[in-house]
Amino acid sequence: MTDLTADQDAVRRYLCDLAPDARLMTVHLGKTKDDMLDHQTMPVAVKTLCEELVAAACLLSHMLKFDGEMILQIKGSGPITMMVAECSSEGRIRSTAQWSDIGDASTFENLVGTGYLAVTVDPRQGERYQGIVPLESGSISGCLNHYFENSEQLDTKLWLASNQSTVGGLLIQRIPEEGGQSLQEYSNWETLSTLANTITDHELASDAGPLLIYKLFHELDPRSFDPWTIEFGCSCSKERSARALRALGEIELKQLFAEQPQLTLDCHFCGQVYQYDQADLEWLLSDQPPRSDTLQ
Ligand SMILES: [Zn+2]
Repeated sequence: MTDLTADQDAVRRYLCDLAPDARLMTVHLGKTKDDMLDHQTMPVAVKTLCEELVAAACLLSHMLKFDGEMILQIKGSGPITMMVAECSSEGRIRSTAQWSDIGDASTFENLVGTGYLAVTVDPRQGERYQGIVPLESGSISGCLNHYFENSEQLDTKLWLASNQSTVGGLLIQRIPEEGGQSLQEYSNWETLSTLANTITDHELASDAGPLLIYKLFHELDPRSFDPWTIEFGCSCSKERSARALRALGEIELKQLFAEQPQLTLDCHFCGQVYQYDQADLEWLLSDQPPRSDTLQ
């Protein structure tokens, strides 16, 4: 392990020579999470949860290694009614939330109330898969660990923590035995789990990278692999944004344009503004993509 710093916004993978039946992953996000939320004015408590949710999406996206989007969505009855975080297979993240007056709510339970966390795997080809877990476990990591316990075949556990400038995550997973060959005699899974449980929020938030992995697991000979870089990016477009208008139907859409010459839709994720006028009405009512000169 040569490069020990966690200053790069990335997901990293590790294997331990003395725990061959386990894989480890960390995620560390600093500037990227700020880029992601900079244009959204959020209370700190909402921002913190968005950051942790997106860190988890990064870990899950890289764990499953599929071509498409990993989407984590919270629907709650508390001041935060909706929160979503996405990570694409290219390492592009985005997140947003809807909330009302959060008052002095500060705990996860008080902020989100009751509801569920949905884990959606949205591949570019093939079927979408969604699993849900109730918001009963006191934190995002608690809900996801509950989700893993109920739905995963593999032992998987994750930890998340954030401070003002960075968010970090750790995920450990037991690798299935291959070809029926038992790895049991070399197993150090229990040792690895026990060591992982000693991690502090402070360490995880500020330093989720090779140095932390070495500090925690040095007796198991960890090795790190090339980092997977994470950056902020939004997949919105005028065409995608138009779906909301199309969903209104022809009569209502014509009525709207009759009342106002220009309709404006903002992308909640990135702040991009899309404008539609009478000239767009024809393609909005057809299945055609927008005229190229109106693309923004
Ligand atoms: Zn956007």
